[in-house]
Amino acid sequence: MSKFFSAKYAALTPYVPGEQPKDTQYVKLNTNESPFAPPTSVVEAAKMEAGKLQLYSDPEVAALTEKAADVWGVKRSQIIMTNGSDEALNFAFMAFCDEKHPIVFADITYGFYSVFAELNNIPYHTIPLQEDFSINYKDYVGIGKNIVIANPNAPTGIALSLSEIEEIVKSNPDNVVVIDEAYVDFGGESCVPLIDKYDNLLVTQTFSKSRSLAGARLGLAIGNEKLIADLNTIKYSTNPYNVNRMTAAAGLAALCEKEWFESNCKEIQRVRAYTTETLEFLGFDVIESKANFVFARSGWMKGEDVYQRLKKKGVLVRRFNAKRIGDYLRITIGTQEQMDILFDKIREIIREEGL
Ligand code: PMP
Repeated sequence: MSKFFSAKYAALTPYVPGEQPKDTQYVKLNTNESPFAPPTSVVEAAKMEAGKLQLYSDPEVAALTEKAADVWGVKRSQIIMTNGSDEALNFAFMAFCDEKHPIVFADITYGFYSVFAELNNIPYHTIPLQEDFSINYKDYVGIGKNIVIANPNAPTGIALSLSEIEEIVKSNPDNVVVIDEAYVDFGGESCVPLIDKYDNLLVTQTFSKSRSLAGARLGLAIGNEKLIADLNTIKYSTNPYNVNRMTAAAGLAALCEKEWFESNCKEIQRVRAYTTETLEFLGFDVIESKANFVFARSGWMKGEDVYQRLKKKGVLVRRFNAKRIGDYLRITIGTQEQMDILFDKIREIIREEGL
């Protein structure tokens, strides 16, 4: 830390992203990216824009916003495009939370929530997941504080139903409820249809998972137009050109590839079922997931050891060094071929251990 670093950030512990290794060619199942490359139309659209990079991007991201409004069935004024959904979440923390408006979230959830809270000096408290790692929606009913819930939750993959989300939103009319739907396309129920009914509901989604654009950094928030106007105030006060030209073009092209999108989501769900079944056969407890990953614990070796052994064998998964979940691995659903390599390596470990 330099002597110039502001005291207000001195205690900040930044978010630690999953490894993006540059040395070994890993089978990479650690950051919930899509295993499928974007289609040619998306690559071509980005290339076309590359020739215009001397010009700033459109601060309104108009063409993409219009298409997105159409795809999600909302008005243009009810949607904002962001630099990944992380930016949408940070905007929401900045816009709606402060010392007098704290935020609550689950004790086991997306690690960035506590970082956004600390970064922006927002008091927060966490609500423990139940024994089976599910969220008890009643814990959030009428709580009278701002709320953020990942639905499906990460790293568990467990989802709340639409009616449970509605209860939470309805019972906290004076607070903003942010529903982070980063993984909703793999089997969850989106609450976007509720935004006209509740002016305190903000939904975030991403192009990073189901639309194969993690490296482009594109996300969005959908909600009542006044909430979106507030997020725009934050955007225009920090980075008006938050979505770059190539990303906006790639995003627009991706939204035109409906069949490709639907078939990839279906394939991930098929491989997820196959992965769950095979891991259970290999002695893992696997939590039923609605996301593009599974959260699983081997019944025969500590989580840290399985993680390290797999890494040595060229398969990278994610493990969190935290209470209650230290023995679990979060395994991204890749292609069937990638998952078969994972299973082979697990079988090798079982053999080496003489289990
Ligand atoms: N929410 C959750 C629950 C996530 O796991 C992630 C991915 N790390 C994000 C939001 C942010 O994704 P992105 O910024 O790539 O849209």
